[in-house]
Amino acid sequence: MSYQDFYQQSIAHPEVFWAKEAQRIDWHKPFEQVVDYSRPPFASWFVGGETNLCHNAVDRWVVKQGEKTALIAISTETPDGSPSEKTWTFRELQQEVERTAAIMIALGVGKGDCVLIYMPMIAEAMFAMLACARIGAIHSVVFGGFAANSLASRIDDAKPKLIFSADAGSRMGKVVPYKPLLDEAIRISKNKPQHVLMVDRKLAAFEHMSGRDVDYAELRAKHMEASVPVTWLKSNDISYILYTSGTTGTPKGVQRDVGGYAVALASSMETIFCGKPGETYFSTSDIGWVVGHSYIVYGPLMAGMATVMYEGVPIRPDASIWWYIVEKYQVTRMFSAPTAVRVLKKQPPELLKKHDLSSLKALYLAGEPLDEPTSTWIAAELGVPIIDNYWQTETGWPILSVAKGIEDMPTRVGSPGVPMPGYRLKLLNEHTGTRCDNNEKGVLVIEGPLPPGCLQTVFNNDERFIKSYWSNFSTEQVYSTFDWGIRDDDGYYFILGRTDDVINVAGHRLGTREIEESISSHPNVSEVAVVGVEDKLKGQVAVAFVIPKDASTTSTPQDKKQFEKEIFAVVDRQLGAVARPSRVYAVSLLPKTRSGKLLRRSIQALCEGRDPGDLTTIEDPNSLTQIKDALES
Ligand code: ATP
Ligand code: MG
Repeated sequence: MSYQDFYQQSIAHPEVFWAKEAQRIDWHKPFEQVVDYSRPPFASWFVGGETNLCHNAVDRWVVKQGEKTALIAISTETPDGSPSEKTWTFRELQQEVERTAAIMIALGVGKGDCVLIYMPMIAEAMFAMLACARIGAIHSVVFGGFAANSLASRIDDAKPKLIFSADAGSRMGKVVPYKPLLDEAIRISKNKPQHVLMVDRKLAAFEHMSGRDVDYAELRAKHMEASVPVTWLKSNDISYILYTSGTTGTPKGVQRDVGGYAVALASSMETIFCGKPGETYFSTSDIGWVVGHSYIVYGPLMAGMATVMYEGVPIRPDASIWWYIVEKYQVTRMFSAPTAVRVLKKQPPELLKKHDLSSLKALYLAGEPLDEPTSTWIAAELGVPIIDNYWQTETGWPILSVAKGIEDMPTRVGSPGVPMPGYRLKLLNEHTGTRCDNNEKGVLVIEGPLPPGCLQTVFNNDERFIKSYWSNFSTEQVYSTFDWGIRDDDGYYFILGRTDDVINVAGHRLGTREIEESISSHPNVSEVAVVGVEDKLKGQVAVAFVIPKDASTTSTPQDKKQFEKEIFAVVDRQLGAVARPSRVYAVSLLPKTRSGKLLRRSIQALCEGRDPGDLTTIEDPNSLTQIKDALES
């Protein structure tokens, strides 16, 4: 089949299309209606059907291939960085999940209860997610290591009955104690969990609150022989809550269903990721993000693949660690983010040649714009297709990519690709709400109903769901992605940044992303952030913060001036003087979210002397000090 036929069928006959895709998973009870869209923008998929994510990810494969590997947990967060590795077959994974499920039940957790998972990247975190899915509890995974106040706000929103945690995580070989953060979060939150289930890794001693805190190893020993049958759930029951990255404001609690999500993952694993049972999938993300939910835990397992859970950074013990994993476990499909590839690009190139990478068939990248130099470099190094894919926490799976499992379509550098099935994409003029022509920039929106797998609503807040996502155009009710896009004559889309990243310089509207791309083409630029800053004369001006590749070239004030001049020249030449930033500051660190996204709104706030806003997801607060220092210099 051609991609065109595949996609067109999903748009012209969605009910036929998704009824067929739904056959990829097991249903305990068949659905009666493919989609109910009688109450837009709320869509219910596979109404009347009953299924279970854990059954489709684990039990189903125990029957077909119980002795094949399901989970490979690797940690390089060891004293010397040498990998510690352990694997589980589907059968063993099922046993562990049943044990964890039995513990949860013993602690009073039942269907519809929320379990908050605040864990490092260890196997127990996956057991916990799958155990929740098994018994119909709603998981809310919070990125391990988030500070107490970020954690507290999520506890207050999700109201978990149980919190599943560990004594500590580790980063670059340094122990990061979790328990004190968790205790503090519970102290300041309004909703106290009944129990805290602790995995004690013996990394950091912690205070034990008797009555509340319980020990995982102890309880596991009691439930070694546990047999916990799958609880069949309605397709529209809630599977989990997950908060967005907080790049543009306060994170939103995305709520997801069971059946639609299962179908979307089973479908995308084959049509986009070409996953085959028995092969190995390696996503470098974290279970705290949507990529971790969809393509570390549920997607690969539902496809019968072994999945890698990696605790560690890409450069310790050295930058060959990912490739060691690829060779040893014969990884076929790998998923990462441009930000991680940029980190590798700064490392000695021979480390990429140390291992046999012949098993690898493709590298998928998502999360932020994939710039041409990064994409070209890694494609040449690995010799496999680099497949950009664009989506959001809200959608749960790619909106744009190339469906290599359907047709071997070429990728186009700079474009994440073409619409994936069921996504009725449109580009609308931001002022008039009318449709854009090809090659005309507009806001990327999706016509309802959103395809299976996308958010049902904002958790406990239908009003926010409608108000923030579906009310941006007076002309029609469409879902706004809040990203700028453009479509070329062949139907490929390009993402041009976020709608709130546009600046207005003396009446000219400029995307900060376009200026960043131009600055990136200077050979001594490693990373750059451009923000719009208030200006009495021009309305706004662009200000750039640049990490030079070679920091020694910007050590003196004269060097800095020279560097700034060179950047000005690049922008003048490529975009015109109107886009030239008013200032270029050299820094060594940029503020990013823990998922590697630039926090432009915080930089902008500092430039305008305002409070930097919601910082619950910032990676390293020192980066803000750097911005402040640069501004004062
Ligand atoms: P918040 O919504 O809380 O501000 P966020 O949008 O960063 O945070 P995510 O859902 O993790 O939270 O990120 C989705 C966004 O990431 C997209 O809307 C888009 O801006 C960006 N993005 C993801 N993948 C790509 C890609 N392949 N190319 C360009 N941009 C991408
Ligand atoms: Mg977003």
